[in-house]
Amino acid sequence: MWRGGTAAWGLLRSGGAGSPRAASGAAAAVVQLRQRLEKELEDIRGAGTWKNERVIASRQGPHLRLAGGGAGILNFCANNYLGLSSHPEVIRAAVEALEKFGAGLSSVRFICGTQSIHKDLEEKIARFHQREDAILYASCFDANAGIFEALLTPEDAVLSDELNHASIIDGIRLCKANKYRYKHMDMQDLEAKLQEAQKHRLRLVATDGAFSMDGDIAPLREICQLAQRYDALVFIDECHATGFLGPNGRGTDELLGVMDKVTIINSTLGKALGGAAGGYTTGPKPLIDLLRQRSRPYLFSNSLPPAVVGCASKALDLLMESNAIAQSMAAKTQRFRSKMTAAGFTLSGKDHPICPVMLGDARLAAVMAEDMLNRGIYVIGFSYPVVPKGKARIRVQISAVHSDEDIDRCVEAFTEVGRKHGALP
Ligand code: PLP
Repeated sequence: MWRGGTAAWGLLRSGGAGSPRAASGAAAAVVQLRQRLEKELEDIRGAGTWKNERVIASRQGPHLRLAGGGAGILNFCANNYLGLSSHPEVIRAAVEALEKFGAGLSSVRFICGTQSIHKDLEEKIARFHQREDAILYASCFDANAGIFEALLTPEDAVLSDELNHASIIDGIRLCKANKYRYKHMDMQDLEAKLQEAQKHRLRLVATDGAFSMDGDIAPLREICQLAQRYDALVFIDECHATGFLGPNGRGTDELLGVMDKVTIINSTLGKALGGAAGGYTTGPKPLIDLLRQRSRPYLFSNSLPPAVVGCASKALDLLMESNAIAQSMAAKTQRFRSKMTAAGFTLSGKDHPICPVMLGDARLAAVMAEDMLNRGIYVIGFSYPVVPKGKARIRVQISAVHSDEDIDRCVEAFTEVGRKHGALP
């Protein structure tokens, strides 16, 4: 139970220990704050948007053990697209980095927080994406928070897809550029906004490569053509693409044949690339040099811990040795999507391991997800405000390490639960 740190607050507000009036004033403020927070929490519960966190008592993987009993749970809701977060070589690389380079740097990069492994990983990321240079962050959220403010001024413009990830939206909020929001993947609207933005010095189109709520892929060919016509740069967030989209897993730009037309990529080390944590920007060298000087989440936050660097570095080695891992997921995704469609479900997106099972009703999505867990399948229902009203869904994520039997079990459970709750005839 939270008791509020009342004494400390009282001291702060009164400026000394000897003021009873100020201490009681502070206590009253804490009571008022508690009441406000409790009301807000009640409102979230009342709206049916409360997020419960299930506690996992095993490693991340296709089969989980949940705290409090549930063993042998089939996991279909992690971003562990390639199964590398529990890959033995990835774990070994983390242990070796931990032993050789220690637990952490106790420092930001520019003071005394840069080790050889950080430089090696940056070089490897740039090579993987075939870009000039790369810079590491503690997360992709930080990479997105740091790039727009460092790059764009009030003379410039940024054009952002309305369904971009929250971290892109927040990063754009922090910058002083002129802001345009175009309708989701709507090229006519983007063109109109680009025409409007001709008056600015520089135009940057910012989009997720793959959108995590719908499993749809940005029309990068068309975006790059428009960028060419209207002298704009293209930025993509590749969190749900790096490692597995495209023939060699380079991402959406490789999949759509525009690797030489996208200028800036932000992505994460916390999903397909080992799943530990960390993010990065890769692109032209002067941009990366500028980010090292100006990007606030980079300048004012600790260096990535060696074990985390070790995981990501090994994941990239595995992907660069062979494209078999990147390729391994496509067939699994296809199996799930075609079997679910044949069973009568509507799935959003196409050819992406994010497979949203569209249900419409928020309560139906919640009840079905709960019932799926009763049958040993861990999936999550999403409803408003995470997705638009009336478009509730259960998001299924396929991993390369799911077996065909795992996928078939999931489809069977969906079919049973769908019939029981009236989602299927
Ligand atoms: N961008 C997108 C599209 C994401 O889905 C996420 C994570 O959910 C992020 C950025 C943030 O990534 P990270 O977990 O590395 O902060």
